[in-house]
Amino acid sequence: MNNKTLKLLSDFVSIQSVSTDRSKYPEMLKAVDFLKKEIKSLGLEVKTYQKDDCPPLIVAKYYLPHDRGIDRKTIGVYAHYDVQPEDPVGEWGSPPFKLTIKNGKIFGRGVADDKGHIIQTLMAIRKIVETQNFASLQKNNIVLIFEGEEETGSKNFEYLINLAKKDLEKIDVFYVLDMGMETSNQPEIFYGLKGLIGFGIEVRTNKQDLHSGVYGNKADNPIQILAELFSKIKDSRTNKILIPHFYDKVKFSLHPSFDIHGITGGYAGEGIKTIIPAMAHAKFSFRLIEDQNPDEIEKLVSDFIKNNLPKGIKYSLKTSGKLDPFCTDINNKYAKATDKIFTEIFGKKTKFSRSGGSIGAVTTLSKQFKKPIILTGFTLKDCNIHAPNENIDEKMFEKGIVSLEKIFMLSEVEI
Ligand SMILES: [Zn+2]
Repeated sequence: MNNKTLKLLSDFVSIQSVSTDRSKYPEMLKAVDFLKKEIKSLGLEVKTYQKDDCPPLIVAKYYLPHDRGIDRKTIGVYAHYDVQPEDPVGEWGSPPFKLTIKNGKIFGRGVADDKGHIIQTLMAIRKIVETQNFASLQKNNIVLIFEGEEETGSKNFEYLINLAKKDLEKIDVFYVLDMGMETSNQPEIFYGLKGLIGFGIEVRTNKQDLHSGVYGNKADNPIQILAELFSKIKDSRTNKILIPHFYDKVKFSLHPSFDIHGITGGYAGEGIKTIIPAMAHAKFSFRLIEDQNPDEIEKLVSDFIKNNLPKGIKYSLKTSGKLDPFCTDINNKYAKATDKIFTEIFGKKTKFSRSGGSIGAVTTLSKQFKKPIILTGFTLKDCNIHAPNENIDEKMFEKGIVSLEKIFMLSEVEI
């Protein structure tokens, strides 16, 4: 990989833009300044959009002068500049924010998710700028959308893209670069993602913990109540969710799922403490598939819990996040043209797949603009996103740049 690309990726990775950690907010702004400077140097116009002091949304565009009646296409590229926390640091083989190359892999927090894709995009544009006359030879307008809140659930994304609507409304196709490929010779485009609804529940049975010898069999135990509730929600032998009407909108054999992420309450320290705890908390979520509506599922779940907890038990149920499932039509000229480019570069026909993951921004872009979405990326299965030793394969990184360059240069005939 050339030194300029490596230096750019290395400088970007060294900025600790961990969006979930408020103390790292100055780093978020540093990442924005870094990107603005780099994007400006490519000749693109760049703006930021913000609500209160949320991490800014970066929108940059290169619009070609309208000439000779040519109907140019506008290609949107989405990626995010925020990253997951680096913990547990001790499990990394190299410092997380220091770019390290070992055995053909580039290591560093964010190289796969999702800073690498941003640098690939910028390098692809730079190649077009430097090797050709950008204005006369470039075929398409380009709009970059770089988010800073993907890892915290894209809370303000819908609001911010509405602020930026004027800059985005001309986009004909969105390339969302936040995924990977199955193997280095098997390109992949995703047309479906699962939706998600998460909950937190607190059950309180007493004002304070009680002596289990004195109150055992008399007082309700909130941890047991939650355990029984969860066993009513899902049959652990068949994995079937038992909430009435949960599957009403599920058309085919794809599986929505239910998982408990954590239960707290009582005493779990060293030794024994013979109490009946006063309260218990739990976090759980459902992954949804297309046509399942998170609002409808929310109602089904909250009714089910109300009807299945013992009468008179005090509890509170809070929804902690909701994402619609995503499904896009891949029968369009952009998907076909991208498949052709990928096939040429990676050596195999593109596989069109669904993924079990959920990306809030994809759903929002799809709903707001109703344009084709090409959800793809250049990481591999062992890229360790969100985990220690996050990495991207060096060759995949380079092929990604070449692929994007070809995509940006697609001619009208090809799309
Ligand atoms: Zn990501």
